[in-house]
Amino acid sequence: MIIQLKKNIATSEKEAILNKVKSLGYKTTEVKTQQGDYLVCIGKKEFDLRQLGHMAGIEDIHRVSDDYKLVSRKWKVNRTHIDLGDGVTIGNGSLSIMAGPCSIENEEQVQQTIGHLVKNNVRIMRGGVFKPRSSPYAFRGMGVEGLKMWHTLARKAGIKIISEVMQVSQIEAMYDYVDVFQVGARNTQNFNLLDELGRVDKAVMIKRGISGTIEELLYSAEYVFSAGNEKLILCERGIRTYERASRNTLDVNAIPILKEKTHLPVVADPSHGIGIREFVDPIALAIVMAGADGIIYETHQKPEEAASDGQQTLNFEESEALIRKLRKTFDLRISF
Ligand code: PEP
Ligand code: MN
Repeated sequence: MIIQLKKNIATSEKEAILNKVKSLGYKTTEVKTQQGDYLVCIGKKEFDLRQLGHMAGIEDIHRVSDDYKLVSRKWKVNRTHIDLGDGVTIGNGSLSIMAGPCSIENEEQVQQTIGHLVKNNVRIMRGGVFKPRSSPYAFRGMGVEGLKMWHTLARKAGIKIISEVMQVSQIEAMYDYVDVFQVGARNTQNFNLLDELGRVDKAVMIKRGISGTIEELLYSAEYVFSAGNEKLILCERGIRTYERASRNTLDVNAIPILKEKTHLPVVADPSHGIGIREFVDPIALAIVMAGADGIIYETHQKPEEAASDGQQTLNFEESEALIRKLRKTFDLRISF
């Protein structure tokens, strides 16, 4: 059960509600976000909601049978939009395109990528400055210095930044230079990191764990929300299956399932999802048709020279062609 509290609730009113809920056999967690105050009540007892409904200080009460509560659509039927400012919004019924290199490598690369995005009216650029690499000997990113350089160039062009944060200590250092913190597939269940991202007032995109279930992804989002941050986006990026013909297996099923289960925006990543450049396009279009709010993919001026993930990265010509197809496919979807 979620009890939404009135903004100006008196301490005595809140105490009375807490006592009542406890007497009904519920364990309660108080959640304060930038948007509202809630009591998340866990317990199985059935009771008549009218026992609480009349109490002063309550805005609304919702029964939520899902074990994750605040991210559930059973509570909030209206979809959440994430407003990044300057007219860039995710989850407002349009298709958000986020594109850029796997890794930020140098100024020239960033400048060229921004040029490509601006030309195609793409407003969000992806790129890693802290890279989680399977091998410790691989390129691990330019760090905060790279992010600052990228931020300066992106701001001039009106481009928003999404970049991966790998550990708690990086949050503060990155804060002024990102618009969306990305939680990578290897960190989906780093609960300390999720908790800390709950304390910032910037959007967070959580990728599905490599071997994570849809439910586990929703629980990860619940961590961030319950720690105070409602600005969340979920990302399907492919899971590990027994199939070795592709890098991962993009779970297209997850898109409609997540859209049904949560009010949060859902995007997907065909680059990591299939891991093969030639096949990014069909998977990207499948993502759009499956109902995603957006897509995030890798592009680079010379993929064969990219510091990471070149094998799944589109060059700018391919990326431009894909953007055209994505928009046509999206128009087709909304025409149904
Ligand atoms: C990435 O986006 O470059 C990345 C490392 O993604 P993932 O966490 O999905 O592997
Ligand atoms: Mn990558």
